[in-house]
Amino acid sequence: MKKLIVGNWKMKGSLAANESLIQALRSGMPTAACNVALCVPSVYLSQCQALLAGSAIDLGAQDVSAHESGAFTGELSGAMLREFGVRYCIVGHSERRQYHAETDTLVALKAQRALASGMTPIVCVGETLDEREAGQTDEVVKRQLAAVIHANGHCISEIVVAYEPVWAIGTGKTASVEQAQQVHLVLRSQLRAASSQADRIHILYGGSMNAANAAQLLAQPDIDGGLVGGASLKAPDFLSIITSAP
Ligand code: PEP
Repeated sequence: MKKLIVGNWKMKGSLAANESLIQALRSGMPTAACNVALCVPSVYLSQCQALLAGSAIDLGAQDVSAHESGAFTGELSGAMLREFGVRYCIVGHSERRQYHAETDTLVALKAQRALASGMTPIVCVGETLDEREAGQTDEVVKRQLAAVIHANGHCISEIVVAYEPVWAIGTGKTASVEQAQQVHLVLRSQLRAASSQADRIHILYGGSMNAANAAQLLAQPDIDGGLVGGASLKAPDFLSIITSAP
């Protein structure tokens, strides 16, 4: 399976910075690259759609409403995102679970809405440092993924999963290769129990992935790509991660 490397720009960027970043990525993309996508702030979707036109890089969003349409001020529907060529949509990022009180049930509904709109949800799961230290890692990620499996039935093979230990996001602390592979295997086994297609579901690792550690992480049997925050904003670093995807 081809690896998938996804950049998560979070609430960063500007018209000028986006243009120079995407130009640098386009000109530096290796010819036989893995699959690549950029999840950009919604206000820049139109700009980035134009900048990425004709390139091998797909466009992604960072969230989607769980509702189809209606009186939901400030929210964006799946249909709206699709109008701007959005192929991937992050759901349940730990920053949204933490700062916007998103529950497992809401995240599962958002994944469902993304699928119904024709997008691939990138479902984030991951434990906090306290949960890891209490030995609850497997239980937490399995609970988070179970809600999505329960709500999405046979469509589960159409999702992407991202394992993002919360303590590794934006902290410079990466899960060790062994820690990451171990959790990825837990998630793969859970997906296998739910779908005969589980082996073609991408399970990405996210959490301070960078140019120096990407190759080792991406060489693990159950790590099918990366969800990259900070390093996706620097073209040379992001290109080097893309190049290290076997
Ligand atoms: C993320 O935003 O999902 C992420 C993994 O961030 P970082 O790479 O900066 O840790």
